Amino acid sequence: TISTATHFIKNIIEEDNRTGKWSGRVETRFPPEPNGYLHIGHAKSICLNFGLAHEYGGTCHLRFDDTNPEKEAQEYVDAIIESVRWLGFDWGQHLHYASDYFDKLYEYAEYLITQGKAYVDSLPAEEIRALRGTLTEAGTNSPYRDRPVAESLDLFRRMRAGEFADGAHVLRAKIDMASPNINLRDPVIYRIRHVHHQRTGDKWCIYPMYDFTHCVSDALEQITHSLCTLEFEDHRPLYDWVLDQLADKVPCHPQQIEFARLNLTYSVMSKRKLIDLVANGLVDGWDDPRMNSLAGLRRRGYTPESIRLFAERIGISKADSWIDMTILEDCLREDLNQRALRRIAVLDPVLLVIDNYPDDQEEICHAPNHPQQPELGKRELKLTKSLYIDRADFMETPSKGFFRLAPDAEVRLRYAYLVKCTHVVKNSQGEITTIHCSYDPATKSGTAGADSRKVKGNIHWLSARHAQPVEIRLYDRLFNDSHPDAENKDYKAALNPDSKQVITGYVEPALLDSLPEQRFQFERHGYFVADRIDTRAGKPVFNRAVSLRNTWAK
Ligand code: ATP
Ligand code: MG
Ligand code: MG
Repeated sequence: TISTATHFIKNIIEEDNRTGKWSGRVETRFPPEPNGYLHIGHAKSICLNFGLAHEYGGTCHLRFDDTNPEKEAQEYVDAIIESVRWLGFDWGQHLHYASDYFDKLYEYAEYLITQGKAYVDSLPAEEIRALRGTLTEAGTNSPYRDRPVAESLDLFRRMRAGEFADGAHVLRAKIDMASPNINLRDPVIYRIRHVHHQRTGDKWCIYPMYDFTHCVSDALEQITHSLCTLEFEDHRPLYDWVLDQLADKVPCHPQQIEFARLNLTYSVMSKRKLIDLVANGLVDGWDDPRMNSLAGLRRRGYTPESIRLFAERIGISKADSWIDMTILEDCLREDLNQRALRRIAVLDPVLLVIDNYPDDQEEICHAPNHPQQPELGKRELKLTKSLYIDRADFMETPSKGFFRLAPDAEVRLRYAYLVKCTHVVKNSQGEITTIHCSYDPATKSGTAGADSRKVKGNIHWLSARHAQPVEIRLYDRLFNDSHPDAENKDYKAALNPDSKQVITGYVEPALLDSLPEQRFQFERHGYFVADRIDTRAGKPVFNRAVSLRNTWAK
């Protein structure tokens, strides 16, 4: 899918192409830190970066920003690769790791020291923080700020050699302790961490900080447009400062451009909280179908197309805003409405007996696989005397506007006959066990008599003898608060207790052969997917991806 909507970043690229700033090159990157799974917010960034590269004939690099070994893991690298690929994007030869640049970064750090642009500070972390000042108060120079270049160089080399404990020293850029932008008050660019790195092993015990690593990585990869979310706007002067100092060393100076991050209602978006949900067993893992991780959305039944449509629809801007969860759900409805074959499932069965129907008769009824796409053909449903219908399609005392089955009311059994309810049978608890009807043999769908009488109700059914029981997981929104992530709120208290319900429902026999990730519309219920993990040959498990209509509208 090529995006059609224009936005301010495209305008910048078009202008660059007009002036020849990058000789027509457009190279972007998506730089996740492998410290968790990707979520729907990342999808916005992925679709933007890969979409722009594709549209303008460049490549989007997939770069792991792997400079915090304590929190990172290969599991996350693998999951991220799988999700980006699943979304439909391709990085060609450009799979990179910031750790690939550790040698270069170290060389540049030494260079900054020799240029008098960086120094080793030996204050404890808390003191460095305290001396950095506040928004209203300028920072104070560290007593080590003017330490001789040779001394800083020696200490930095010994930091690398492993002579010091974590936290004993840091390397700081020497910029301006009085800058109104706190990011420029001599930011730390290297710290000591005696930890094993998933890729570089024990080669390093000092690791570069994000603000130093990111711009250098972009420059080394010759990225042209480095797109990030708005919270990095204040970091842009530092991004530019580092690359200005290294102008003779790196091949180019990419342009950082900020855009508004995705904020989605009824979800939490920070990795820390998502990790918490998993670690505390509040969900069934990262790919729990209620999670807004891409792995979770996939398992829920979301298609890559629906997520790309969502990214397109919400657009790109520089102003923070909230996107309603319904927009995401509607994108899936739209996509699956076009693509999913229709099938019948009875989720909460009650027996319906057609008393005047011949006892052993089996009659074929034809149901279209897709009402708007006749070329997709029809399937056969067997009608018999005893059927299952959904309990919600009957009301003993119908409320106003209820046009489905009720005593003495007549409805159409979809693709079959008109039936009229004659009486019901209840058990000792007063629960209806059987609904009795009579049918009019002259009214079969598709025959001349079908429309002899108009009825408002049209309900689905399955032959009790043929219907097959399957496990169905009815998922709903994970949170029942539209802003569970808001400050001073406990998002765990906002969990929706009804977000997962596991039932046995009945389905058309052919559905037993569903393949993992096959998606269907269960008529009048919603869109369902055969679970990609738990579905076995002949034994599918279905997840409700989304109901047919928004049930959350206020
Ligand atoms: P953390 O929760 O640890 O801060 P992060 O969301 O920053 O993690 P990264 O792996 O650093 O995760 O993100 C990779 C890229 O995805 C970054 O460029 C980031 O700006 C972008 N991104 C993350 N969250 C969103 C979001 N909600 N909307 C748009 N882009 C996002
Ligand atoms: Mg990050
Ligand atoms: Mg972040």
